[in-house]
Amino acid sequence: MKHDTNHPPAPTAVHGFSPGFAALGLEARILTTLEALGYEEPTPIQREAIPPLLAGKDLLGQAATGTGKTAAFTLPLLQRIAHGAKQKPAALILVPTRELAIQVGEAVQRYGKELRATVLAVYGGQAIGPQFHALRRGVDVIVATPGRALDHIRRQTLKLNQIQVVVLDEADEMLDMGFAEDLDAILEQTPAAKQTALFSATMPPRIRSIAHRHLKEPVEITIAKEPVKAGAAPRVQQTAYVVLRPHRGATLARVIDMAAPKSALVFCRTRVEVDEVTAMLNGRGHRAEAIHGGMGQSQRDRVMNAFRTGQTELLVATDVAARGLDIPHVSHVINYDLPSSAEVYVHRIGRTGRAGREGAAITILDPREQRLLRSIEQHTKAKVTVAPVPTVADLRAKRLERTRAAVQEAMETEDLDRFAGVVQSLAASGDPAKVAAAAVKLIFRAQGGERAEQEIPAIQHRPPETHRPMHRQAGYADDRYRGAPARSGERQPVGRPGRGGREAGMARVYIGAGRDAGIRPGDLVGAIANEAKVNSSVIGAIEIEDRFSIVDVPEAMAKGIIEVLGRSRIKGRKVGVRLFRE
Ligand code: AMP
Repeated sequence: MKHDTNHPPAPTAVHGFSPGFAALGLEARILTTLEALGYEEPTPIQREAIPPLLAGKDLLGQAATGTGKTAAFTLPLLQRIAHGAKQKPAALILVPTRELAIQVGEAVQRYGKELRATVLAVYGGQAIGPQFHALRRGVDVIVATPGRALDHIRRQTLKLNQIQVVVLDEADEMLDMGFAEDLDAILEQTPAAKQTALFSATMPPRIRSIAHRHLKEPVEITIAKEPVKAGAAPRVQQTAYVVLRPHRGATLARVIDMAAPKSALVFCRTRVEVDEVTAMLNGRGHRAEAIHGGMGQSQRDRVMNAFRTGQTELLVATDVAARGLDIPHVSHVINYDLPSSAEVYVHRIGRTGRAGREGAAITILDPREQRLLRSIEQHTKAKVTVAPVPTVADLRAKRLERTRAAVQEAMETEDLDRFAGVVQSLAASGDPAKVAAAAVKLIFRAQGGERAEQEIPAIQHRPPETHRPMHRQAGYADDRYRGAPARSGERQPVGRPGRGGREAGMARVYIGAGRDAGIRPGDLVGAIANEAKVNSSVIGAIEIEDRFSIVDVPEAMAKGIIEVLGRSRIKGRKVGVRLFRE
């Protein structure tokens, strides 16, 4: 097996723990969790942040969403508190919005599974009562928006005198939202002898000053600052599609259907994703094979042979698996996930466009990851065009064109005499053009042209300078209208729309159960996310009244969510669900 010259061979320990994570000092129970999640190696921010954090150092990290920063601070935090004093809560993670609180809370839960760490997300907009109860029982890790954290501190339902670790996540966003004073007030309540980590996508002076006030001799880490070596980035047509997470799978299938690549490498971040994506593509009639670090050598050889000989057109891989392989030139590299750094991106897309040949690189990303995409553009000095996701009509037109081309080619190159008799006999009873149309229809159908397709909802794309991640606009954080003094030139926080004022692109869903039935926002988020299989980050404002609740969801998903919720049970009972009208 040949190796790429500029990268080390794939780790030999393909079974068992990732040597990369183990070398960072993480303990066996965490390694087991990472193994189960299918993480093969640490991302750059994880490699740099985990050792100092495990050693108890304060940290100032510049990293955007998509770099793996949540695990970078959560894994050491969990390991430290698992071995520290048992008082609760032992760790506090402050985040700017409700959505992030939920998301980070879920991540802490996932990463802390083997350690049996308990976590609670508290955020504005959530009924405060149930939070008292959970706080009284005691949890290891609190993930909170600053406004709601302060509320609890003032009511003395949250006591921070035992806190060992504090994380400020997306600190620049928190300051943008006017939380500077709240942060100071919260940190004042924590013990002096604690560890503090601050992460921010940008490092303006305001962040430096907060770091100066609250961090002790921090280790500083900046990710993706090193420009990629000149000439390292290949000349490849680069395109990106921005979609919400729940639509990533459908988008991948759509772009592959559109591009009909002869040979493509599809990159995923984890083994688990590699397997899911491979199954999904095969289910849609593609010939896809998975390759990842968990496979034995003979299995890999079989897959690579199938790919080299064209039996398989799609190879779905993790970075680690692909690194150790001698992969032939491919027509397309598709990033199902944005890679965690510019270096990995360049290495991935270097598989296409080799030796003057044409190549295309396609990336699917979450709105929250656009900052990382821009940083990749800066460092590769290459433009990545953000394009709208192809519509059903686009795909249909493409398929028809493909059928046309296939027929034309057959007309030019194939021996058609054998079929002339059939055509003549059919034409005897009708119009020859009709015969041809019927034949084309059958080919179109045989090529899968009539497979039912659904539109993938577009997200409103704003120019980068004014862009706010979509789910934030849609999001609800009552923390947000806590006096955020609008500095000139700064964006005003988006207030919560009143019941009459739904946000653009969002629909309001009426659910016939409310406070009287013991409904909490988490129940609704849970029901929608689990039953309708949508990511909780797309859910907007939640309003709970005595007898009913109203949840904002993206318009394009409303119908599906209403259908599914109407059929399922919320807190054990059936409830009426419909579009909310004034
Ligand atoms: P974050 O930047 O924390 O929002 O993480 C971005 C995504 O990367 C999440 O979906 C994580 O599950 C995933 N991720 C984080 N670390 C790794 C890793 N070492 N290997 C693979 N995926 C990862």
